Amino acid sequence: MIAIIGGTFDPIHFGHLRPALDIAEKLSLTEVRFIPSATPPHRWQPEASAEDRINMVKLSIEGTKPFILDDREYHREGASYTIDTLKSIRFEIGNDQSFSMILGLDAFQSFTSWKDWKDIVEACHIVIAARPGYQIDETLDEYLATRVTDNIDDLKSFAAGKIYFCDVTQLDISATMIRDKLKNQQSCDYLTPAKVCDYIESNKLYGSDK
Ligand code: ATP
Repeated sequence: MIAIIGGTFDPIHFGHLRPALDIAEKLSLTEVRFIPSATPPHRWQPEASAEDRINMVKLSIEGTKPFILDDREYHREGASYTIDTLKSIRFEIGNDQSFSMILGLDAFQSFTSWKDWKDIVEACHIVIAARPGYQIDETLDEYLATRVTDNIDDLKSFAAGKIYFCDVTQLDISATMIRDKLKNQQSCDYLTPAKVCDYIESNKLYGSDK
């Protein structure tokens, strides 16, 4: 069973890493691919370059099984649409292997505005990580509601198409918070791995001149 977690990772932080590890352990994932978005279609553009964001992901996951970096969106032209990424991974792993996309609850709340969102649900399972400050929407879209399961075995028995809400370590950390701290010449220690803090400092990212 493999999973992906996509994001701008501007920068990556423990609020990405610990919940992804919780999910990996809970679902016995053999691989979790971190996929930095080069040109995200849904939001303002990242502050750090794609190269820097990729380097920070690399530094933060090295040595942690089953995390790996997947930089395919960086090598693709144009906006990074999730459906294109999922299709290319599906092509590689075949139609039978269980494959999940990890999303924070905040990201899931706007999911029905994503390009080809119904096709996304057909292409993978969606595993939703609880996130401080966000509640499960009581009026979940009907199409999505029929896919929800609380049985982990469903994620193993089916290759795609299920939606699973997962309890994870609650860390009220965001990349915005880290960027704001750095702009104010505050430290990002203990919000993201030390190697990422060192990288930010050496490369003077996010207005940090410490
Ligand atoms: P920003 O503050 O710049 O919007 P972010 O901290 O939300 O960034 P992203 O790179 O946009 O980070 O997030 C990538 C994925 O990780 C998304 O699915 C998001 O919901 C999830 N995520 C981010 N932070 C957390 C957190 N603290 N807990 C759970 N999920 C998170």
